[in-house]
Amino acid sequence: MKHHLSGLVALSSIALLVGLTFVVSASDADGSLAEITICIDPGHGGVEDPGAVNESYGLIESEINLDVAQGLRDLLLDEGAAVLMTREDDSFLTNRDRYTFCNNEGADILVSVHTNSVADAGFDGSLALYKKSEDILLARTIQGVMFDDLSSTAPEGVNFVNYGISMFTSGVLLKSDMPSTIAEPLFMSHPEEAKVLVTKIYSGTSSPNYDCRRGQIARAIHRGVLEYVGVGEPTPTPQSGGDMHVSAIAMWYGYRGRGFVVYTKVGIADSGGSPLSGVAVSVRTTLPDGTEMVPEAGLSGDDGTVTFSVRSPQEGIYWSEVTEATKTGWEYDAEGSEVQMPVSLDVTR
Ligand SMILES: [Zn+2]
Repeated sequence: MKHHLSGLVALSSIALLVGLTFVVSASDADGSLAEITICIDPGHGGVEDPGAVNESYGLIESEINLDVAQGLRDLLLDEGAAVLMTREDDSFLTNRDRYTFCNNEGADILVSVHTNSVADAGFDGSLALYKKSEDILLARTIQGVMFDDLSSTAPEGVNFVNYGISMFTSGVLLKSDMPSTIAEPLFMSHPEEAKVLVTKIYSGTSSPNYDCRRGQIARAIHRGVLEYVGVGEPTPTPQSGGDMHVSAIAMWYGYRGRGFVVYTKVGIADSGGSPLSGVAVSVRTTLPDGTEMVPEAGLSGDDGTVTFSVRSPQEGIYWSEVTEATKTGWEYDAEGSEVQMPVSLDVTR
């Protein structure tokens, strides 16, 4: 977490030697993020990878992402953060270039800035992607703020949906070492969003315009990072930490519409049997036909439990097991579980 800027500069020179155009910026302001190194990754780039395109409005995702990322960069620099950018121009980078850079620089968090797009122009809303359990709190915090801020400022008549967080085992998330997320703040395929996305934060020599839609995105992600750093850093005490294990699993189901919602509730406890909160838990539920589903991971609450759900029309035996449990300073003792996994549930109408 604590990082010396001299080290950053040295590492960035190495990156430049191998021909990559990464840029390190640092502010010496003593702001609220003074101890934090944030890697911002403007998604896509170069003629090879423009990302999504909305031809009717002349929008190119890689250009929007860069403009938003640069707006975000300057907001974070004002807080005293050290900010790394995987690109500062329209250059092409592989995902490997991106996560390798952030890993080598020892960034504390990685935020990849994208803009969503689908064929159906009626869709709008925000979501965030994560891969590993350490990503979940970052993804959830940024998504929560993006949805709050961007839904309240959405263009008239838009149905702005909270798509939550989803697991995504690809892209820049694949091999990044630090808590990482891909932010998809809104859909550039929606014509009402596209209209307002035309306005840039940085246009020519004028000062940045944070009142435009892109500026709202940059400010929302900025606020999400601040919130994450405020709530996301557990304050470990020497006494906290040790072994933790699964203390209970319960499964039940409900019948909804044309299918079932199958719930799996997991309890996590420390070696003394006390419930443990703030543990990022992942489960896998296997459907009667053998399909494996991984519901959105969750954090255990004050009672040490977290509940997952999957939807399926299938009748028969469902199986659930915990695949991962992580919490800073704690070791997941998979063998120490008090329940035999997987647990099963017979689901019938
Ligand atoms: Zn994208």
